Amino acid sequence: MDSGTHLVFGLGLGGLALIDPVIAYEPYGPVAVLIGTIAGSQAPDFDTVLRLKSNADYIKNHRGMSHSFPAIAGWAVLITLALSLLFRSVSWWHIGLWVLLAVIVHVLSDLFNSYGTQAFRPVTRKWIAWNIIHIFDPFIFGAHLVAILLWLTGWASPTVVFPVLYAMLAVYYAWRSVVHRRLSARIPSRDPERREGDQYTLLPTLNLHRWNLVRQSTDCTFAIGEWDKGAVHWIDHTKCDVHPAVEASKKEQGRAGAAERHAVSLRASPRAALGLRGSLDRYPLPAPEAVSVRGDGHDGCLL
Ligand SMILES: [Zn+2]
Repeated sequence: MDSGTHLVFGLGLGGLALIDPVIAYEPYGPVAVLIGTIAGSQAPDFDTVLRLKSNADYIKNHRGMSHSFPAIAGWAVLITLALSLLFRSVSWWHIGLWVLLAVIVHVLSDLFNSYGTQAFRPVTRKWIAWNIIHIFDPFIFGAHLVAILLWLTGWASPTVVFPVLYAMLAVYYAWRSVVHRRLSARIPSRDPERREGDQYTLLPTLNLHRWNLVRQSTDCTFAIGEWDKGAVHWIDHTKCDVHPAVEASKKEQGRAGAAERHAVSLRASPRAALGLRGSLDRYPLPAPEAVSVRGDGHDGCLL
């Protein structure tokens, strides 16, 4: 998710932590845990400092190791250690559990986006993207804002507001997952240009009813379009290795150094799909969700 959403998740989980009596009844408990959940909800994205090195390094590594199993534990330990030194009267392991939850929620919410994370490293180095929730989701962000406002103005108890908020968001994530699954099964049969072996990737947009679509064919051609109002609309067609976006990506790869002989991959994402619709002057790749260079061992065909 975007940094703003991770921030409201951090605040929200800090509010939710007040259901823990060990935190709520200790004078410094709420402030310690709030600092911890905010830090934990931002920590995995600390790898954005790679941008200072180069855009290619950032694109290749962002959401990689920093979002993996060992890193989740590492971030939680580091933050808990710092907080337990600052707030010695608060149970360190209660702080630790809430911080760990914040880091896990960060990685889990990123997995639902289209960008992909290497969350399952070291088990697998595969980039995993579930393509279900847009990187900025107005409902998730807005629901958090309302809950935080109710808490800060004292209109409602955080021990009521935040359990309700997260129960509601769990239902929302489940609903979006079901919609994505159903549409993924349905769309191939609704595509009049469908050929044998075509693979479809459905990507979320800001609009709950519209999805970007990428179709990859066995001859290494792509179609980019959208699912809107119950119909497939193809907007652009391209072939591996000939599209300007891919060429721009290769240049970026070249800048990363000869040692970086990784395949060029077109990460299926809303912005990549939108970028291919004609905004080619955006390349080379100003944003992480554009076409990116990844070391995922993908040669030849993209995606
Ligand atoms: Zn992240």
